[in-house]
Amino acid sequence: MFKIVAYGVRKNEVDYFKKLNKYNYDLQLESDMLTHDNVETAKGADAVLLRANCVGDETNLAKFHEWGIKYVFTRTVGYNHIDLKAAKKYDMKVARVPAYSPYAVAELAMTLGMMLFRHTALATSLTNKGDFSVSTATFSGEVHSSTVGIIGTGRIGATEAQLYHGMGTNVLGYDPYPSDFAKQYVKFVSQDELLAQSDIVSIHVPYFPGQNDNLIDETFLSKMKKNAVLVNTARSQLADYPAVIKAIKDGQIAGFASDVLPDEEEVLGHNFNGNITNDLTRQLTELYPKVLLTPHIGSYTSPALTDMINVSYENFHQVLET
Ligand code: NAD
Repeated sequence: MFKIVAYGVRKNEVDYFKKLNKYNYDLQLESDMLTHDNVETAKGADAVLLRANCVGDETNLAKFHEWGIKYVFTRTVGYNHIDLKAAKKYDMKVARVPAYSPYAVAELAMTLGMMLFRHTALATSLTNKGDFSVSTATFSGEVHSSTVGIIGTGRIGATEAQLYHGMGTNVLGYDPYPSDFAKQYVKFVSQDELLAQSDIVSIHVPYFPGQNDNLIDETFLSKMKKNAVLVNTARSQLADYPAVIKAIKDGQIAGFASDVLPDEEEVLGHNFNGNITNDLTRQLTELYPKVLLTPHIGSYTSPALTDMINVSYENFHQVLET
């Protein structure tokens, strides 16, 4: 029986893995992310199934090679956690899940953008403290008559554009390869024009190591409107966090929301004790409610999880059939 070791499987995901296992794979479901310390758990497997924040670097791939593991798949869209050069060197097959419910991340990006734009977190944080007076700080525009700028209008970005378009919002986009689907909902402009005009800027660009690190830097932020808010649900490496923190403190932008964190390996790890040691994450949490953080839950929905596991199983099935 083909044995798969899957990492980073949350408690409530176990039933999905079992229920959807139509090819009867031998499953070993590990709650921890793959690290250098627990890599031995892969011994005896034919394949491993990773997720973002699992360590798929050369060190771990070399071990897999030694143990005869030929398939290193990820159940995520992003695959920057797998060293493709090392995989090629060891003649390993790598596959990802290029498409699962794009509404999962698109809806979260919208929720965060609208919470910032409508000052919802500020309002609820005041009422939670028993302050029901109407603060002028919660006065806002309306999303439907504002401008949203989406950088990266692939599957997720275009879906967010479609949803905002449905609200009557003016949607601008920047993408070197605009799809026909996106063109129905987006007016494509240069990145600079998008930043200059948008009230909500949403990032859906893949992270390419060494190519677009710190896309969101001081220059990027200085081109945004002072009352605009920024949402990053893509990858943490795209953000220069000290520059973002400075921009919030200086009032260069009005708000920042992120589903991705500078120290995900630690704070999303199984053994995290609530003690934030990363100074940037700590500073970001201190800026609430101007800064909203979520623990990489963009795709943590039932439809997305079902798609992810189904496509992963199909990926394995395809390589086994060929
Ligand atoms: P996709 O490949 O369908 O679309 C990416 C788009 O970005 C493409 O159209 C591409 O042309 C465009 N692009 C690339 N470089 C660009 C640049 N410099 N400027 C503007 N556009 C650029 O990917 P997707 O499914 O929409 O996912 C986007 C990213 O979202 C993923 O790579 C992943 O990192 C992230 N993601 C996050 C979560 C989460 O849980 N928060 C879940 C899924 C995906």
